[in-house]
Amino acid sequence: MNTLHERLGSALGAENVKTAPEDLAVYAFDAYTEGNLPAAVVIPSDARQVSAIVKIAREYGEPIIARGAGTGLCGGAVPIEGGGIVISFARMHRLLELDGANRRARVQPGLVNLQLSQQVKGAGLFYAPDPASQRSSTIGGNIATNAGGPHCLSYGTTVNHVLALEIVDENGDVFTTDLDDAGYDLTSVLVGSEGTLGIVTSAWVRLLRLPEATHVWLAAFADIESASETVSGIIGSGIVPTALEMMDAVIVKAVEQAFHAGYPTDAGAVLLIESAGFEEEMNAYESAIRSIAAQRGALSWRVAKTAAERDALWAGRKGAVGAIGRIAPNYYTQDVTVPRSVLPKALHAVEVAARENDLVVGNVFHAGDGNLHPLLVYDKRDRRQVGAVLATGDAILRAAVDLGGTISGEHGIGYEKREAMTRVYGTQDLAAMARVRDVFDPRRSLNPEKIFPSGTQCVEVKAPA
Ligand SMILES: Cc1cc2nc3c(=O)[nH]c(=O)nc-3n(C[C@H](O)[C@H](O)[C@H](O)COP(=O)(O)OP(=O)(O)OC[C@H]3O[C@@H](n4cnc5c(N)ncnc54)[C@H](O)[C@@H]3O)c2cc1C
Repeated sequence: MNTLHERLGSALGAENVKTAPEDLAVYAFDAYTEGNLPAAVVIPSDARQVSAIVKIAREYGEPIIARGAGTGLCGGAVPIEGGGIVISFARMHRLLELDGANRRARVQPGLVNLQLSQQVKGAGLFYAPDPASQRSSTIGGNIATNAGGPHCLSYGTTVNHVLALEIVDENGDVFTTDLDDAGYDLTSVLVGSEGTLGIVTSAWVRLLRLPEATHVWLAAFADIESASETVSGIIGSGIVPTALEMMDAVIVKAVEQAFHAGYPTDAGAVLLIESAGFEEEMNAYESAIRSIAAQRGALSWRVAKTAAERDALWAGRKGAVGAIGRIAPNYYTQDVTVPRSVLPKALHAVEVAARENDLVVGNVFHAGDGNLHPLLVYDKRDRRQVGAVLATGDAILRAAVDLGGTISGEHGIGYEKREAMTRVYGTQDLAAMARVRDVFDPRRSLNPEKIFPSGTQCVEVKAPA
């Protein structure tokens, strides 16, 4: 009998099957954690090859882990127990069809998010969900995690932009879903399922018309409380900017050192605010937002006057996580959501948790959505700091849940947060989710050890902790 590697090689070509430990090592990591080595990494070129891989994996009893760019922040794309076949979509990275008349595009899962917008720009269109990782994360990974981003405040998250999917199921069969079809909306069930219900091999996504005008403003505040109150004030007034992002003093200093975009390093917090639409509406938006900020004590108000200035401010925001490398060699990003009205309380809880554990924390987040991303900076060679990061991350999670929020805003559950699922879901809720999973993947061969609390078998689910 042929070995697993030989079977995969004959289905895909030996050059598209990686088995050397030094090649596999890369796939044991995502942006959150180190897992275990897979048995093989395969790099298919189309759905037919993905189907063949799944069928071979089934014969050998190997689980399947789909992988985009590996920028995930919850261990979703790494094998945990070891073994398993990682499917990399690095060769399935094309825009297949642009249907400008209907403002939609069919893409392969390995297409990098930003490249989609760049490729449809000539047609006056763009793809709205823009995770800060958009220079490297893929549409397949974004669909699997229901990625958000700064512009999701007004445009909605990935689930609002996926129109139809082509999926390879756990048997290796190919099926399609379409939002326009009657009956159950399986497209939306699959979005955010983190590779546990099926493998995305192509998607039709919604495109939006590029706005006539885009204005970006930067408001500086003495402290994070007045910036948070401004966020509540703006949304409470009925204005929904296209983006409303907050950065605290720790982040502003790191970003300014890295990008020199003109961020005020003496501010306690800044808000990056963007409005897009018709040019004639912009003055009214600016004066309304500016007066709300002034009433909450804004220290300064800066207008990005050119496209270059606007891009520089955004480069600072989107590069904030990388800039944090100037403070310490490692960081851990927590991802929780709270109702906007309790943002100041949640930020206070973050500060207290970090102080009690003697850690530096920087806050950079989608303030308009109440989606916090405290960045805990540390040195992983120091065991005390590692313990402190775990304790602080947990305290933030608990505080968010206590404030009526939830355990993930956009990064997903993956491996990292599966035990925390019991903090927000009861036994019945988890059992219902497990039944959905069992319909798609009764053998639990697609991305096992993810989302569900450990020890969950079929529809048996542990009681909440
Ligand atoms: C600096 C930085 C900033 C970030 N900012 C944001 C942000 O603003 N918003 C946000 O939402 N996230 C953000 N993230 C997290 C991450 O980028 C997103 O979760 C992203 O959607 C992951 O895409 P990926 O291609 O890297 O997927 P991977 O990390 O490779 O995989 C993520 C999950 O998707 C599954 N998957 C991948 N491809 C497929 C497929 N074809 N079919 C089925 N399942 C698949 C994997 O199994 C895994 O469970 C950030 C990460 C970093 C490092």
